[in-house]
Amino acid sequence: MKKVFGLFGYPVHHSMSPIMQEAAFSDCDIMANYHAFLVKPEQLKEAVKSIRALQLGGVNVTIPHKVAVMEYLDEVDEEARQIGAVNTIVNRNGRLIGYNTDGRGYLESLLELTETVVGKNVAIIGAGGAARAVATVLINAQVSQLVIANRTVLKAEALLQRLPNGNTVTEVMSIAELEHTLHKFDIIINTTSVGMSPHADESPLSLTHLKENTVVSDLIYNPLQTKLLMEAEAMGALTLNGLGMFVNQGALSFEYWTEQKPNRQKMTDVVLKQLGGIRC
Ligand code: NAP
Repeated sequence: MKKVFGLFGYPVHHSMSPIMQEAAFSDCDIMANYHAFLVKPEQLKEAVKSIRALQLGGVNVTIPHKVAVMEYLDEVDEEARQIGAVNTIVNRNGRLIGYNTDGRGYLESLLELTETVVGKNVAIIGAGGAARAVATVLINAQVSQLVIANRTVLKAEALLQRLPNGNTVTEVMSIAELEHTLHKFDIIINTTSVGMSPHADESPLSLTHLKENTVVSDLIYNPLQTKLLMEAEAMGALTLNGLGMFVNQGALSFEYWTEQKPNRQKMTDVVLKQLGGIRC
């Protein structure tokens, strides 16, 4: 019998997880389907119960359910607890366990470009859910300094309070302060939605003070090359889009569900094709 996996979100119609996960299942010769389920916030509790009732193998969880879903699970893994959000649920014989693969998915893509993040000075733009996942794994990976800069500074301060204690020196800045001190950072990461299609002509900050060879990274993958990344590349930066993070978080979810390693290149290729066939 085919196993069923899925995605709980609201909305979900835009998600590329179904084509990406089905490509991975097919490549591993696993008989499975992956459906996007439109789950309204008031239906989340019942939807989670249905994972047991329908014997789903597991699900991904996306906006707006990543935080709310935690209270309906039997167990939440330590890193997901630190991040304060779950994006992957595994059904182990009726016991529902929550994980978060967003942060590690991002870190794995970053490490393909930089080898190590230990001792690096990092600036994160944004203070939402994605920023918290990325900041948590970077602190756990022992970056030296982590600055959070956000349009709403109060939200950045609130995020800082919720990050794990580590040896990393953490600080909040306004976007303007970050712009003036950009040359002090080794890695700059945009976790805001500024620059995402259809607003691809926008950038979250000015790069005037960027130094050469800085890593500039954007979690956005539609478009693959945001205005921020184009400007950074023109100034001699090394750039990274959000496609690797998206594929890696999905691949890590797949590993939790199946205990097999999926073919990440195949997963990347189907998403790229869907995005318009451009290779990054
Ligand atoms: P979120 O929780 O809603 O946070 C949004 C962040 O963007 C906040 O810091 C917000 O600032 C900032 N922002 C929004 N509009 C802005 C504007 N016009 N000017 C300045 N700042 C603005 O969203 P999220 O879940 O963290 O997701 C953020 C981005 O990451 C999205 O683009 C999402 O697609 C991307 N993402 C990518 C992946 C991947 O796999 N590649 C995974 C997760 C998320 P305020 O606090 O001031 O409102």
